[in-house]
Amino acid sequence: MSSAMESLYQQLILDHARTPSHRGITHDDGVEVHHVNPTCGDEVTLRLLITGDDGDARVGRLEWDGQGCSISQASISMMADLLDGQDVATALDLGDRFRAMMDDRGREPDGDELGDAVALHGVAQYPARIKCALLGWMAFKDALGRSGVSTGSAEDEGEDAP
Ligand code: ZN
Repeated sequence: MSSAMESLYQQLILDHARTPSHRGITHDDGVEVHHVNPTCGDEVTLRLLITGDDGDARVGRLEWDGQGCSISQASISMMADLLDGQDVATALDLGDRFRAMMDDRGREPDGDELGDAVALHGVAQYPARIKCALLGWMAFKDALGRSGVSTGSAEDEGEDAP
């Protein structure tokens, strides 16, 4: 990759860390979760309101507060931009794409579904930082489960075979 692209991605991360989207919890609807990444000291409190139900469920409101390294805070901000107003199925798909990117040793993903979060693909080369980038997404998935939404993984739901 060209160094111009690398510095563009660096700038995006810094911009989100300095001016985070959807930061600040202003309501008490829905559910709230708190997640910590102890290896780095990153924290996030995420409040999620799901609207609609079943096939029509959407991310109605997503707000958060947090502290920690630039990667963790930028990742939460990028995630909030992507997920606010999104239907739940798409939100889960984006979470899977982000996790796949973190498993891909720093390769840039195809397609632009992940928006600004693509800037974090380089983090996958630094195993110690992957948890920083995933913190917000883990919190979101937890909040979805607590909202009564099926998050598609058997261990979360404790269900028997179909
Ligand atoms: Zn961190």
